Amino acid sequence: MSSLEIKNLHVSIGTKEIVKNLSLTIRSGEVHAIMGPNGTGKSTLAKAIAGHPDYTITSGDVLLDGRSILPQEADERARAGLFLAFQYPSDIPGVSIANFLRAALQARLAEGEELDATGYYKRLYAKMDMLKIDRKFTSRSVNDGFSGGEKKRCEILQMAMLEPKFALMDETDSGLDIDALRIVADGVNTLRGPGLGVLLITHYQRLLDYIVPDFVHVMWDGRIVKSGGKSLALELEAKGYDWVKKELVLA
Ligand code: ADP
Ligand code: MG
Repeated sequence: MSSLEIKNLHVSIGTKEIVKNLSLTIRSGEVHAIMGPNGTGKSTLAKAIAGHPDYTITSGDVLLDGRSILPQEADERARAGLFLAFQYPSDIPGVSIANFLRAALQARLAEGEELDATGYYKRLYAKMDMLKIDRKFTSRSVNDGFSGGEKKRCEILQMAMLEPKFALMDETDSGLDIDALRIVADGVNTLRGPGLGVLLITHYQRLLDYIVPDFVHVMWDGRIVKSGGKSLALELEAKGYDWVKKELVLA
């Protein structure tokens, strides 16, 4: 059983504080959704946890299995078991998905250790079958000319191959058409299980019709202002974010 604990986290961009004292614990097997209006700091939270250099954690901590990840570089965090899926993934023209994934797995091995090619392809094809991804897909260059849906398929395949303890997925507003939404949902639903914790960041209530979360948190102005079960997403869909805002004003 693993845990990812975000403790009293404050994150600034330049001199502006964006995430303000946010705490949240995710355990293996749980799917948590963070929802909230645009500009509330959802992507900032994800990028700060990923170790993006533009985002400064001014106080608080992020612990993976009780150990702070803050001293670690982004790649060390990944090796420790964090997977970060981005809203706007980069293109890598000339590098096939198969070779990219192979390099990613190779990078996790100790110095001098060589990834077994036969075993690698066997595993890759098994994961692709599980996710119903066409074999031809892996010979294409990473994200080069991909549709939104194909980018998501590539991302889910990366996640399946890397077998992280925790996946942070920032799936906001732009670029997610219904096709891409379904790919993310099918992928997460296939991969979810006792060994994986998911933090799903979304602006869309609709995504949660496909991925039913165990917990829903509403983020507002850099803080989690309300938490609940999956019914909270439905309540938000029916009443909108203004409802949460009104409650805050009344409280
Ligand atoms: P969300 O993902 O909830 O829409 P963001 O985390 O993207 O919110 O943004 C939160 C706030 O931080 C916004 O006011 C946004 O303008 C600001 N912000 C985000 N990224 C940057 C950046 N790289 N430089 C300056 N301000 C930023
Ligand atoms: Mg965002």
